[in-house]
Amino acid sequence: MFDLLVKGGTLPDGTVADIAILGDKIAEIAPRIDAEAREVIDATGDLVAPPFVDPHFHLDATLSYGLPRLNASGTLLEGISLWGELREIATVEEMVERALQYCDWAASMGLLAIRSHVDTTPDHLNTVTAMLEVKEKVKGYIDLQLVAFPQDGLYRAPNGRENLIRALDMGVDVVGGIPHFERTMQAGAESVRDLCEIAAERGLPVDLHCDETDDSMSRHVETLAHETTRLGLQGRVVGSHLTSMHSMDNYYVSKLIPLMAEAQIAAIPNPLINIVLQGRHDTFPKRRGLTRVREMQAAGIAVGWGQDCVLDPWYSLGTADMLDVAFMGMHVAQMTHPDEMARCFTMVTETNAAIIGVEGYGLSKGAMASLVVLDADNPVDALRLRPARLAVVSKGKVIAKTPRQDAALSIPSRPETVRRRAPKR
Ligand SMILES: [Zn+2]
Repeated sequence: MFDLLVKGGTLPDGTVADIAILGDKIAEIAPRIDAEAREVIDATGDLVAPPFVDPHFHLDATLSYGLPRLNASGTLLEGISLWGELREIATVEEMVERALQYCDWAASMGLLAIRSHVDTTPDHLNTVTAMLEVKEKVKGYIDLQLVAFPQDGLYRAPNGRENLIRALDMGVDVVGGIPHFERTMQAGAESVRDLCEIAAERGLPVDLHCDETDDSMSRHVETLAHETTRLGLQGRVVGSHLTSMHSMDNYYVSKLIPLMAEAQIAAIPNPLINIVLQGRHDTFPKRRGLTRVREMQAAGIAVGWGQDCVLDPWYSLGTADMLDVAFMGMHVAQMTHPDEMARCFTMVTETNAAIIGVEGYGLSKGAMASLVVLDADNPVDALRLRPARLAVVSKGKVIAKTPRQDAALSIPSRPETVRRRAPKR
């Protein structure tokens, strides 16, 4: 007797399979499983995918949009200054409550693993206290990783370095940084070296906000690649944003990308936020500010889409739907070939899981029993529709259900319901 049987779903690779779950693990996956189960989900004709993964988020700031006031200029810098005010007045309880509310949204959308940066700038470290509490509270259904993020600079903020170390001592999982925000290019490069050495000493991964600027001369990713190789951190280092690469000289990039590939650095562009924050100082033409996604992938670099922000000082929208993120990324990076669209779906599932190291991830026998049933035929149509998550299973338990969203039609001689699935070819 299985605990749960997901029947007849179409997997992302197009095969149709039943998935049997016992406890929190996938016990069997086969074209047809005839066995009893305590609960059965009929997924016939629907897409069954491994859960969505967000490799870049800010859970300490989420759902605070408008507090203490709006970001009028829409720039990264005004966002940072607004957040600097908010983190001094927000209580631990308020931050925990907002983060838990966001995790409810995430659960309902099948987003079951999140890497969140946590601001380590203020001496009180309430942000860290709050997010460690959230991590413990959601661990039964969301895998939450925390990154020690010196928002105001490792060296630029008073006690920036000391507080980052304190956060790591409190149990934060990953070393973060923001080299382009340090006072000088040299200080930024020094911070990259310092942070990579801290990570090497402690055996931790590195995930830096790196070159999130339109300045084509912001080249900290070069230093990040060098330090990764020098310290033997290959496969453990992420460059988030990398927007300066959008504006860099093509010849320089032809040298840079192989260095990143050699260091096995992963890249996490955040298309929702970068398309609104970057290019704000341009007249026309306005740059898009998205890093070179297809070019990095062609060189063998792992690239995943991140969400970054939902309703906070930097971004006034967001839904906890990684399909929204992939949809925007696909448009801005012009990844519209069918293979590229399918890859965009893989980026917000398997690639992101591999980049941040989600344990037991995937639809295979013995893996953690976490999956999402989507009201779509296949990954590309899921991107097009961004449809209802009919069922979300996390660690063996059904944690969310959303009804199918067929429209009832009242037009003479036309069908009574509309589902908007793409015509079969
Ligand atoms: Zn960020």
